[in-house]
Amino acid sequence: MHDSIRPRVTIVGAGFSGLVAARELEANGIEVTIYEARDRIGGRAWTEERLGHTLEMGATWVHWMQPFVWTEITRYGQRIYPSPVADDAYWLSGGEVHHGTEAELDDKLLRPQARIFEASQEFFPYPHEPLHILDSGDEELIQRFRAADQGSILDALRDGSFSQEEIDLADAYWSAGYNGYTSSASPLMAKHWAALSDHRLSLLDEQTLRFKLENGMRGIYEAIAADLTATVHLSTPVTAVEHDADGARVTLDDGTVVASDAVIVTAPLGALDTIAFTPALPAPAQSVVAEGFNCTGFKIWIKIRGHHSLIAYAPTGNPIALVRSEYFLDDDTTILVGFGPDHEKIDLDDVTQVQDLLHRWRPDLEVLECTGHDWAGDRWSGQTWATPRSGQFLQGWSLFRDSDTRLRFAGADWAKGWNGVVVDGAIETGITTARGLIDELRSR
Ligand SMILES: Cc1cc2nc3c(=O)[nH]c(=O)nc-3n(C[C@H](O)[C@H](O)[C@H](O)COP(=O)(O)OP(=O)(O)OC[C@H]3O[C@@H](n4cnc5c(N)ncnc54)[C@H](O)[C@@H]3O)c2cc1C
Repeated sequence: MHDSIRPRVTIVGAGFSGLVAARELEANGIEVTIYEARDRIGGRAWTEERLGHTLEMGATWVHWMQPFVWTEITRYGQRIYPSPVADDAYWLSGGEVHHGTEAELDDKLLRPQARIFEASQEFFPYPHEPLHILDSGDEELIQRFRAADQGSILDALRDGSFSQEEIDLADAYWSAGYNGYTSSASPLMAKHWAALSDHRLSLLDEQTLRFKLENGMRGIYEAIAADLTATVHLSTPVTAVEHDADGARVTLDDGTVVASDAVIVTAPLGALDTIAFTPALPAPAQSVVAEGFNCTGFKIWIKIRGHHSLIAYAPTGNPIALVRSEYFLDDDTTILVGFGPDHEKIDLDDVTQVQDLLHRWRPDLEVLECTGHDWAGDRWSGQTWATPRSGQFLQGWSLFRDSDTRLRFAGADWAKGWNGVVVDGAIETGITTARGLIDELRSR
């Protein structure tokens, strides 16, 4: 880098990836400015007071086996605690409500999950290099890997080996996990999750739904922001990005054009259509933007009367696929968390609709309030956590990686580790994208 002129980088988005990239760049003497469309930082992580409790509208659970987020938890002295295990489990199948313990429900999932996880060891020998097999030279294995990106989770379950009850349970589990329809979900992602979890269902559950932060996600994203000297311009959408060999220019929504040496865009796939790129993105990337990922679902928080320790599953056709008790309050109420595949099938604030949905499992439950944020309908996200449609594990997220121009992408959607799904991946790409730019700007 020139000694006399401090390089300048513009970052679009103040979620985890943007904040971490800014910290990394600043630590290397680069001047950073961040433009964020929302009136707050955090992006798809958003800790809020709702229903008389501190709740996460977006990301909640973390784990020590997610290396990047665990580093931040350690760095900022944050603490975790477990979500409760449910006393009662309910699952819908064949028009009936089944009842048992959470352990019994987990046992019933083992057989279909073994099918879903099949070949995870072969396909992902290095879980943080998810496309490694494509360079293996083993044509037979590569062909099977490619084939596993086609079809869907639901196809894999409907091969004749499983009872309807097993299919319905696994369908419900993955409708929540992909936060979208299992009929269009690439089976490869579930195998990748298995590889990231030592091929064990219990560890996968532990990594994705068990441990949350005492101070919430804001305990980390506010701490990262406090380490920055960069100005974060809130409520300032970027409408255009232009780049060439020497630098980049972003256009703000009031028409102001800001020039810098490079730009990092951290908007998720579902929000990339809010930005006009010059030169245009390559055609394959444009078609992924037009298609969108498979994550069309929602997360909902529901307050019910009384203390009820439960978990409930329902297959496709039921708006809520999975609901679980999360907090037991002193005023004799319980807050449940729920997930479903299609945000258009639910009004997150409609007590009557949500009570009707809970009655499919337990007609005695009384809903007092419910809330959530419609991420899939929000133009600054356009999706929840990124999960691939059939074919997109190989031709989707990776198209936005490894740019060598003055336009770079960062964000959970393009991560190698927990690709798309968790804060861990946002931090991973914040670091790696910033490091790539640091090298580039040093060499100029
Ligand atoms: C409902 C839900 C539940 C989740 N649960 C978990 C969980 O339990 N654990 C976990 O680890 N992860 C979870 N995740 C995933 C996690 O929230 C994300 O992976 C992570 O927060 C993504 O960070 P990011 O910086 O890549 O993207 P984002 O957080 O989306 O940040 C991108 C930023 O860019 C901004 N932006 C977009 N377009 C523009 C524009 N044109 N101009 C300016 N700014 C723009 C956005 O407003 C946003 O602030 C969940 C996500 C959702 C939605």
